[in-house]
Amino acid sequence: MRLCDICGKPLQGGYGRDGAIVCRDCEPVLNAEIEKLREQGKPVNALHIARRIYRETYSGGDYLLRDVPANLMTRAKHRAIDDGCSVRTMLIRALTEYVERNSKEGE
Ligand SMILES: [Zn+2]
Repeated sequence: MRLCDICGKPLQGGYGRDGAIVCRDCEPVLNAEIEKLREQGKPVNALHIARRIYRETYSGGDYLLRDVPANLMTRAKHRAIDDGCSVRTMLIRALTEYVERNSKEGE
């Protein structure tokens, strides 16, 4: 499961442009920003634009997690590689599944 590079929602299909993949709702936002930068004669990098919009609009902030068990982190990194996703995507997916699960389930 890939996430939209602008809004962070899971993608079903998606629109790829210069390394960025965005959902249908975010496609016009990305294209408008690219056109604006081109008109200004500024360099255009779709993935950088998407990540900037994400940070400015959708980011819940940063969270630094210290002292993750080495064996768990090694296994998680290998699993992410096997699944073809980044560690960031894997962690967001795990958090999403955790908060969407019935809260009584884990007790
Ligand atoms: Zn989106």
